[in-house]
Amino acid sequence: MCGKRWVGLTLAAATVVAVSGCHTAFGPEPLDRDWRVYEGVRVSFFVRPGSFAEQNVARLSEVLEDQFTSTVATLRLAYAGHLHAYAYNSGAEAHFTSDAAGRAYPETESFRFVAVPPMGDNLFQLMSHEANHVVVIDGLGRAGTYFMTEGLASALLSETFHRSGRHFLFPWTRSHRAQLPRMATLIDDGGWGRTAQDTAYKSSASFLAWLIDTYGSDRLRQIYPLNSDQMLDRIASIYGRPLDALEAEWLVFCENFAG
Ligand SMILES: [Zn+2]
Repeated sequence: MCGKRWVGLTLAAATVVAVSGCHTAFGPEPLDRDWRVYEGVRVSFFVRPGSFAEQNVARLSEVLEDQFTSTVATLRLAYAGHLHAYAYNSGAEAHFTSDAAGRAYPETESFRFVAVPPMGDNLFQLMSHEANHVVVIDGLGRAGTYFMTEGLASALLSETFHRSGRHFLFPWTRSHRAQLPRMATLIDDGGWGRTAQDTAYKSSASFLAWLIDTYGSDRLRQIYPLNSDQMLDRIASIYGRPLDALEAEWLVFCENFAG
């Protein structure tokens, strides 16, 4: 494994990469040294030696490189940085409460996530969502709402290597129509906090994916930084129709989405 060259990747260190000054180089928590790094064009991929992530690092890196390119293109970002992805073996190892978790550190262009089997959509979705947090925040600054921060990170999922983006979100919206919170609730940070997180994330992502596809990223960028108090009025002026009308359009679209 160590001597093998991957397409588009090089193994930068034969055994262990010493990450020094980690408290400043990566997020708020100290980072141990037991990592191998695989260098890509836009992403340096850190894995535990011999781990599931290392066994699949070529495909995982390929997915991230594509996600980076897709997000920058979709939002027309000037961001041209370099990401540092850390794949952990378990939630416990990363100090998360579950294996289905990740965290982004835009200040250091870094994110961490848990990489456990199986290889496939769920893992790609988790990893790409965290990568999007870094690219979007480093490209546009902080969003003004949870709705935008979390919704956009999943709305931007590229489907080159999986079907966890629009092909999941729009049918999910159709099949959960009865439980969907109103968008007026989700754009309010208080309302967001009172909504089941899984539902809030998916509803927001579905709506924002449709909004970008239908009305373009320029208008999306204008509402991106707005806080909850500003959002309703500004959406009406920027889109030329109230949020309720956009929401109704989105629901009709999801009802008819053939995928
Ligand atoms: Zn997130």
